[in-house]
Amino acid sequence: MNYNDFFKKEVDSLKEKGLDWKIRVLQGKSIPHSKVDGKNTLILCSNNYLNLSSHPKLVEAGINALKSHGAGSGSVRAIAGTMDLHKKLEEKISEFKETEDSLYFQTGYAANAGLIPSLMAKGDLIISDELNHGSIIDGVRLSKADKAVFPHKNMDELKKILEESEKKFNKILVISDGVFSMDGDIAPLKEISDLCIKHGAMSYVDDAHGDGVLGKGIGIVHHFDLKGKIDIEMGTFSKAFGVVGGYVCGSTSMKEFALNKSRTWLLSGSAPPATIASCIASLEVVKSEPKHVENLWKNTAYWKKGLKERGFDIGLSETPITPVMLGESPLAQKFSLRLLEEGIFALPIVFPMVAQDKARIRTMMNSGLTKEDLDFALETFEKIGKELKVI
Ligand code: PMP
Repeated sequence: MNYNDFFKKEVDSLKEKGLDWKIRVLQGKSIPHSKVDGKNTLILCSNNYLNLSSHPKLVEAGINALKSHGAGSGSVRAIAGTMDLHKKLEEKISEFKETEDSLYFQTGYAANAGLIPSLMAKGDLIISDELNHGSIIDGVRLSKADKAVFPHKNMDELKKILEESEKKFNKILVISDGVFSMDGDIAPLKEISDLCIKHGAMSYVDDAHGDGVLGKGIGIVHHFDLKGKIDIEMGTFSKAFGVVGGYVCGSTSMKEFALNKSRTWLLSGSAPPATIASCIASLEVVKSEPKHVENLWKNTAYWKKGLKERGFDIGLSETPITPVMLGESPLAQKFSLRLLEEGIFALPIVFPMVAQDKARIRTMMNSGLTKEDLDFALETFEKIGKELKVI
């Protein structure tokens, strides 16, 4: 068999359905005004919420570490790849997230895909929100435990599953995104935590989109005042913190369990010194320069209000993730292309990432956007919205 024919056939089939990824290329930094595929654009789809990825302190810390510690770590963490910088970052994460301890992973995906399968075994149960992120889904799939899914944020259903399962399984894990990445709505974490405590279940929250955003930037647990009540908080440095890397935090025993059991952590080379030093700097900046979180929320309020006033449907969003609901996929694709022609980079989210009739442009706010940027974006959305008869 000529496998190139196989690859081509598969890709052609995706292209026919319009489901293939068209990769856009940034020429330079990820900042609100960036060159994308050679065109000057305003970026409204990056996760760099606090505009920290090229903050001078993060860049300087990275350069200094590159000089002092070299380009690579030389090993996996468990062998010879744990440097003083990795230890320092984990101290900083625990301090920042107000937990006893923490463990840094190469990515948030690696944290979910590595830790979740080791938490629950045969005879246990994992209960997951139906809209949880793909990295959680992959982690759950790798587990030998039984699985149950509850309708999005439906606490009555979660309660029912817990009541029915409590005596049937050895251990139960309830896992939820903190902020849901497609709709920008927030999980009812207080209710989830109460139910877990009542029914003796372990609680796990993915704070990827709450880090640097909710609870003065500390995250969803701080936002809901649940310190000490969630067994495992997972998060990422690839979004608001502006760098890359994942983490889990909780008790020291949980950290030791995670590092001994997570295959993604044990079997993959550790993150390079420059990355780690920039992560440390980013936590310091979020704490010492509150203006970034404040601006993010100011921009978020202005953006949402402007869209609503113009008649757009922004769905369930409560956070800087602001979907502009359009309906069918081709309309969302057309809208996104027109935006790019007008100088705005915002991606369409289409089936199968969301339901057939729930295609949208997903916009993400950024603290570095100015009022002029937002006015330009609102006027452009309005112009295209009218042109395509959305409003
Ligand atoms: N969880 C959620 C909710 C996410 O949105 C993402 C990133 N898309 C991840 C986990 C994975 O994080 P990372 O980019 O660090 O791999």
